[in-house]
Amino acid sequence: MTNCIFCRIASGEIPSSVIYEDEDFKVIMDIAPAAKGHAIILTKKHFANLFELEEDVAGKVLSVAKKVAAAMKEELCCDGINLLQNNGEAAGQTVFHLHFHLIPRYKDDDVHIKWKPGRYEDGEAADIAAKIAGRLI
Ligand code: 5GP
Ligand code: ZN
Repeated sequence: MTNCIFCRIASGEIPSSVIYEDEDFKVIMDIAPAAKGHAIILTKKHFANLFELEEDVAGKVLSVAKKVAAAMKEELCCDGINLLQNNGEAAGQTVFHLHFHLIPRYKDDDVHIKWKPGRYEDGEAADIAAKIAGRLI
């Protein structure tokens, strides 16, 4: 997709700071980092989101995340790393080409990935789980 910024970065048409690259992925620095070293894993092929992602590429992404996260932790000496992936505007997705964030975290840093813990009524969690499970293919 020529009008997709991440397709253009993934293909090399637009230059970026590259950490890692293979036939399926390019891992680059996020242009507006939550913290220095914040990286994004881009698929080379255009998928808008997780729902569109092909199985064979899906099976490889965690291995790339693990490898890059280990290198980031060693180099940045961060205390932790968030692996984050947004699907849809409601979930915070702003670039509609599938990507995974690797965000270095430090004790008492100013990065906030939070939600207010909710609660289930008796049996509600099991009911929802069973309904979702019934849709698995
Ligand atoms: P999302 O909100 O879709 O999960 O994340 C999109 C991310 O892409 C944001 O963190 C944003 O800073 C980053 N981003 C947007 N445009 C560019 C760009 O042109 N180059 C790079 N390296 N990152 C970008
Ligand atoms: Zn794209």
